[in-house]
Amino acid sequence: MWRIRVLCILAALFVAVGARAENKIAVLLITGQNNHNWKATTPIIQEELKKAGKFKVDVITTPARAVPPSEWNSFRPNFAHYRVVFVNYNGDIWPIDVQKSFEKYMAAGGGLVIYHASNNPFPKWTEWHKMVGLCWQGPNFGDRIIVNEVGKVMRTPKGQGPGAGHGAKHPFEMVVRDSQHPIMKGLPLKWLHTTDELYHGQRGPAVNMHILATAFSAVETKGTGADEPLVWVVKYGAGRVFVCLLGHDEVPTSNPDTATLLTRGTEWAATGKVTLPPVAGFPGKVVEPK
Ligand code: ZN
Repeated sequence: MWRIRVLCILAALFVAVGARAENKIAVLLITGQNNHNWKATTPIIQEELKKAGKFKVDVITTPARAVPPSEWNSFRPNFAHYRVVFVNYNGDIWPIDVQKSFEKYMAAGGGLVIYHASNNPFPKWTEWHKMVGLCWQGPNFGDRIIVNEVGKVMRTPKGQGPGAGHGAKHPFEMVVRDSQHPIMKGLPLKWLHTTDELYHGQRGPAVNMHILATAFSAVETKGTGADEPLVWVVKYGAGRVFVCLLGHDEVPTSNPDTATLLTRGTEWAATGKVTLPPVAGFPGKVVEPK
């Protein structure tokens, strides 16, 4: 009799653990090509998401750069299986049917996280530009967005002002522009981010885009002298997009401030809500440039 009781308890435990695993947010992390060290940053991102305790992450690796098109035949992600797609990728265009299925997934309420150089690829995929808002492109590609000295969002038409770039790597101050947004709520209004690239002059349609944080791009570090958007969200159909331009390499990627933005941003892109606290040690230490 006691054996049956033990078996019943074990079975109940198994079901309970299984149910908890089921409740986790399914994340698809796409990587495999990048002019950055994706092999180093992807495991860090995976670990941060795992430590947050809310996500179940599958990683899909694309074929290598410039392979024959037939090698892409196996790259057919089942987007509908996931609440959010995390992109750590800067490489060749995805096959057209993958583009179309991703557009459908996003329009129907999917989630997307764009990490650092992942706003660089796909110069001809118009719907992607709408999802990302601002892309790493030249001045003729689209409008440029900055925040002026009184906190107003300013739009520079395409063709005017600088295109995408960054100055010398250095630590810089992050300035929160919407402290009530779920991703930013409870974070300090300003903090010092560790040595990283400070992207400037990003270009795109910037429609349904809402800026969450900027940093001042100083002329002394070969920047623009403007407050550049580095963290923002975009509404695309019923879908939610979170963009974080921080994270050039392992140092900023593993810093608690970036980890906080990534974990909370991923939860928000998936659900529209944020329950995760800032990562322990936020904002983290500042590593000076080499
Ligand atoms: Zn970079």
